[in-house]
Formats: sequence, structure tokens, C-alpha cells
Amino acid sequence: MEKICVAVRVRPPTPESSPENGSSLWKVEDNRISLYKSLDTPISTSSYAFDHVFDESSTNAEVYELLTKDIIHAAVEGFNGTAFAYGQTSSGKTFTMTGSETDPGIIRRSVRDVFEKIQMISDREFLIRVSYMEIYNEEINDLLAVENQRLQIHEHLERGVFVAGLKEEIVSDAEQILKLIDSGEGNRHFGETNMNVHSSRSHTIFRMVIESRGKENNSSDAIRVSVLNLVDLAGSERIAKTGAGGVRLTEGKYINKSLMILGNVINKLSESAKLRAHIPYRDSKLTRILQPALGGNAKTCIICTIAPEEYHIEESKGTLQFASRAK
Ligand code: ADP
Ligand code: MG
Repeated sequence: MEKICVAVRVRPPTPESSPENGSSLWKVEDNRISLYKSLDTPISTSSYAFDHVFDESSTNAEVYELLTKDIIHAAVEGFNGTAFAYGQTSSGKTFTMTGSETDPGIIRRSVRDVFEKIQMISDREFLIRVSYMEIYNEEINDLLAVENQRLQIHEHLERGVFVAGLKEEIVSDAEQILKLIDSGEGNRHFGETNMNVHSSRSHTIFRMVIESRGKENNSSDAIRVSVLNLVDLAGSERIAKTGAGGVRLTEGKYINKSLMILGNVINKLSESAKLRAHIPYRDSKLTRILQPALGGNAKTCIICTIAPEEYHIEESKGTLQFASRAK
């Protein structure tokens, strides 16, 4: 069993943060993050250590290099892998996964890296398929084909767990995938009046299936198939904070439940094999879909994103607790 790599990233204050609540009470030193009572009384009240902690000056390039590169390279070699971004809305999950024009996020970097890696392997032939889905209120929707809504999870003796009817696009270069992602992003917001609200209310899974075949057919590992999942989770804020009723409340309940189950699954996985009697993958669509790429010799990392403003302190503590349980 591979150890799950757990990291924390603090985003910079946004232009909207006022000077009083904009300055961070979080201090990052090496792989440790500490909360100070206030800036003038520098007494640390809590302190947490993780595999990596990225401060507000960190770039997506650094996060990719330290956290996900190994997972991507292993995926090309035939190992399953998953990278998650976890945190409250506005803490920087999408910035980390999708990124900006000047600093592309983990998804784009992974796609480019996979194709670069493949080009260097001359004795194997590769077939790459991608899919992109969202889980919204425990319903699976296809982001590459809007007509595919409410897809079901099936289990097959040979194929294992899979999403029936999900579009899988065969791709031959990085640019093709990046175009697909852009169109998928469009679908994600389809029909919504407030894009930002909807986008943070669903989990999205970008998936690459990397299949390779040795050109010499007599080798024992002639065919390798690995699955790589890059997951932008729904906002982890508590329902009370969104001040929600109606639709928002329903969404919030689904989100909180599935994130709790994800926490339970990851927590079980990080326990010793003896204690790991039953892992509750089946309790949510998210964990069920990701099951083959969690545990076993799959490589997993979680990046927990934190908003630095004082206003967000309770949510930030909650995020660090989630991160601590995952270690
Ligand atoms: P989330 O997806 O968690 O809701 P976003 O990724 O949309 O949050 O981030 C909220 C805002 O903060 C966005 O405007 C984003 O560009 C900005 N932001 C987030 N993280 C960073 C960062 N590390 N550096 C610079 N800007 C960031
Ligand atoms: Mg987001």
C-alpha cells in the first residue's frame, strides 16, 4: 500500500480582501503550517505538519513538480493514480487544478507531461482515452457529451467498476485534450445563472486512461492499463456558512456527505492493513468511481487549499483537520 501524500496550499489574499482581514494569520515554515492568535501577539495556537506546505507565493509549477509529477510518470508506467483538490469555495482548488493562462494548473501540466513521457518510450505503443464528468447531487453527468446525464455505475468482472455510457474520447496529442477540457468546462456551466456557485457545488473528475502495449509481443507485461484521475472537489464549507435553503441546502447535504465518506475512505486507507477491514467505497458515487485508483499500489495525493482571510478561519481549521486525518 502506497502512502497518501498530503499537502496544504495557502492562497494569497484576493483583491477583494480588505486590509484588516486580508493579512494571513497562517504562517508557513517548511512543511508546517501554524495559526497565530493575532499578528501582534505571535503565539501559535495550533500547528500542523504535512508532506508539503505551499505558501501564498507558490506556483502551480512548484505544486506540480513536488506533488503530482511522480504520480503522472507512474501512470505512464502502468500504475493508477489520483490527485484531489480539497477546500472551501474560493480557497484555490480550481486555480490549482485548472490554473491560469500564465501558470497552467495540474491538469494541463499532467496532460503535457504524459505526452512528453510517451514520446520518450520507444518500445511501447500507447492509446490514451480521456473522459470528464461531474458529480452533482449524487448524479453523474458527462461533461464531454451534454446529452449523457444521470449516468449509472456498473460493475463488470473484467472491466471492474465503470460509468456506463460515459464518453471516452481517444486522443493523440496534448492540444486535442486541452480543447476537450475547455469544451467540457463550458458544459459544466450549462444552464446555470450563477456559474461560480454551480461550479463549486459539484465534484469534477478529469480522467485519462493510459493503455500501452509492448511492441515485442512476447514480454509478460505486454498490455498495461492505468487510470489517472484529477479531481476538483466541491466546496467543503459547512452548510450554515452558505446561509442556504432550498436547492443550495440540498446540494450542501450531498456535498458534505460525499466529502465525509471520502474522508472516511482515505482515513481507512492510511490506517495499517490490519485495521483496514472494510473500506466504505460504496457509500458514495465519488469513492465508488475512484475505487480502482485509490488504495492498492495506486498513487494518491491530496492538496488541501486554504483561504488566508481571518473570516475563513473556521473553514480553514476544518480543512486542516481533513488533511490531518488523511495522513
Ligand atoms: P475554488 O475553486 O476553491 O472555489 P478558486 O480557484 O476559484 O477557488 O480561487 C478563488 C480566487 O482566488 C480566484 O480568483 C483565483 O484566481 C484566486 N487564487 C486562488 N489561488 C491562487 C493562487 N495560489 N495564486 C493566485 N491567485 C489565486
Ligand atoms: Mg472552483
